[in-house]
Amino acid sequence: MTARIIDGKSIAAAIRRRIADSVRKHVAHGLPRPGLAVIQVGDNPASSVYVSHKRQDCREVGFHSEAYELPAETRQEQLLALVGRLNMDPAIDGILVQLPLPQHIEAQAVIERINPDKDVDGFHPENIGRLLLRLPGMRPCTPSGVMTLLRHTGEPLDGKDAVILGQSSIVGRPMAIELLNARCTPTICHSRSRDLQAKVRRADIVVAAVGREQFVPGTWIKPGAILIDIGINRNAAGKLVGDIDFAAACAQAAWVTPVPGGVGPMTRAALLENTLLAAEQHSRLG
Ligand code: NAP
Repeated sequence: MTARIIDGKSIAAAIRRRIADSVRKHVAHGLPRPGLAVIQVGDNPASSVYVSHKRQDCREVGFHSEAYELPAETRQEQLLALVGRLNMDPAIDGILVQLPLPQHIEAQAVIERINPDKDVDGFHPENIGRLLLRLPGMRPCTPSGVMTLLRHTGEPLDGKDAVILGQSSIVGRPMAIELLNARCTPTICHSRSRDLQAKVRRADIVVAAVGREQFVPGTWIKPGAILIDIGINRNAAGKLVGDIDFAAACAQAAWVTPVPGGVGPMTRAALLENTLLAAEQHSRLG
């Protein structure tokens, strides 16, 4: 079997075109452009790259965007006060606080300060609860982007056995709920899970979010499976790679996402989708 590649880059580009079109229509109807505020504390180089990509995406689709680059020594109360101001700012529909934050700031307190209606990362407990209860809300971006990729395969999802490798609050856990909501049967694995090989080998869908190169070798892959690689790692040659042995996946799976060009662009596209949704909700309420 030769796997088909799920091309996140082109699917995300199509989403951006659709969003840009919606923004043009909003503006033509006299509505304000959707507004996204991105806050970065400190100068983590990876965060700076992510933030600049997000601002570039905002420009491309015609969003209003504001960047807040705060020094690493910013106090938690100062950050909370900024989030509080942005919560009240009518030009801002979405607030994103780039993680990780410096150690002296409690990330959860900051996430919980964001108005859930502006929580375009989908990390606020209210939005996680709404996902769990299958109610509309802001969905965490990476799992939401993965669901879009899965739907693009055209494969029916209901009844499929899905294994999620990784149980983080922002990736693995919401991913499992998204798959459950799509009527899959999810199994979440973590560092204490036993016999991962047997679990992965049974899975129709594997979502890998561990952050270790070659974590899923070819011998674990069920022929015909759908493989979604969320992991981002730099290999010895300095190249970006995922968690799954890509060459083996191409030979054995039915579908596979590349790294880069798979889940990453979809996470960014899901952020734009959430911001547009927030703006539409705000203009309905306003
Ligand atoms: P994380 O918080 O570090 O979580 C990693 C998970 O992997 C944990 O649940 C951990 O289990 C599990 N794990 C570690 N070793 C394991 C083992 N030997 N067997 C089974 N499970 C094991 O990371 P994250 O934030 O979820 O991110 C995961 C990866 O996805 C990273 O490479 C990150 O860069 C990437 N990522 C990509 C995107 C994107 O848009 N493409 C977005 C977000 C994250 P325990 O909980 O038991 O420790």
